[in-house]
Amino acid sequence: MSSEAIIAAEQQFTSGLYPKRQVAIVRGEGARLYNAEGRMFIDCVGGQGAANLGHSHPAVVAAVQAQAARLMSCPEIFHNDERAAYLQELAAALPFPARIFLCNSGAEAIEAGLKFARLLSGRKQIIATKRGFHGRTMGALSATWEPKYREPFLPLVPEFAHVPYGDPEDLAEAVGEGTAAVLLEPVQGEGGVRPAPAGYLESARRICDERGALLLLDEVQTGFGRTGRLFGCEHSGVTPDILILAKSIAAGLPMGAVAIHARHGALPGGAHGTTFGGNPLLCAAARAALRTYIQDDIPRQATEKGAWLVEQLRALNLPAVREVRGLGLLIGLELKTRAQPYLSALMERGVLALPAGPTVLRLLPPLVISYEDLETVVREIKAVLSV
Ligand SMILES: *Cc1c(COP(=O)(O)O)cnc(C)c1O
Repeated sequence: MSSEAIIAAEQQFTSGLYPKRQVAIVRGEGARLYNAEGRMFIDCVGGQGAANLGHSHPAVVAAVQAQAARLMSCPEIFHNDERAAYLQELAAALPFPARIFLCNSGAEAIEAGLKFARLLSGRKQIIATKRGFHGRTMGALSATWEPKYREPFLPLVPEFAHVPYGDPEDLAEAVGEGTAAVLLEPVQGEGGVRPAPAGYLESARRICDERGALLLLDEVQTGFGRTGRLFGCEHSGVTPDILILAKSIAAGLPMGAVAIHARHGALPGGAHGTTFGGNPLLCAAARAALRTYIQDDIPRQATEKGAWLVEQLRALNLPAVREVRGLGLLIGLELKTRAQPYLSALMERGVLALPAGPTVLRLLPPLVISYEDLETVVREIKAVLSV
């Protein structure tokens, strides 16, 4: 199928929900993507954060192929070897002792985390943050801040409130006797690439402890090496009550996980569930991915490449750029004008990147990207933003 035919067919039959770019991607390898005619693009979208290991990582491909031929479906009413092994290995990699609920996406993991918070605390209120993003299903959307995502779907779930991100005093004022949980991203991703100010997560932890509320960390985007540690919370040493994971957990396949601190014990049987949760094919993929993150020290690659990239971008001293910020390989360029035209110009020149709000150009490359490709990215950003 030609790019033209692919685009025409999608335009006729897809929902219409996604403002799509005029490009048809048919193949990927590492940090490079190819269109139907074989044109190469350097990928700084990284599957919107799902492709931390790059595209079709050989270890994950092999695990998926072997498990697909053995067993693809096994709901959690049964035990399963691949799931048992994955739970053991993920638990060992987490920065705190935990029980784990497996599901199928970021929003679904958030939904579960919110339900568990109400269940464990016996309270109702959830405090989230302005510019926070947690997904688009009704519960997750209630925690998401962006008014244009929320307003068409009101009324949402009651008892959600939003405080400014990064200010412990606002948080201390909002959290009270009725607060079930505080829900935070260690770095706000969609909300503009905003790392938590120094001491913020520590303050949130202390406020939650003082008021008997749970601390939920949404690491859907920051997890699995993206910020330079396996989990973003490890930069601060803050341990959440509930850690929410998805995106890169299975190196590009749809999966989510909710890790509940072991001090809360097991959840009551039957309180929640999902058909595909703990699916053995996904567990095999996630297991191969986790081993690769650890064995290849992928978080260190994110630290080193991220520091290099930020330094290069700052050194360009581009008048169109207000600020370059980020953590690891989650990097944002705050522009003086809208990011969209620059994203289009970059695509024309063979670099795919993302927005994060109207004026932030976000770079989310696979953590395995080569320095050669990063050099090209810097050169093309310079070319496009100098105009
Ligand atoms: C992408 C994202 C989600 C939602 O995940 P989906 O798999 O798209 O539902 C939730 N939280 C954060 C921080 C995200 O970046």
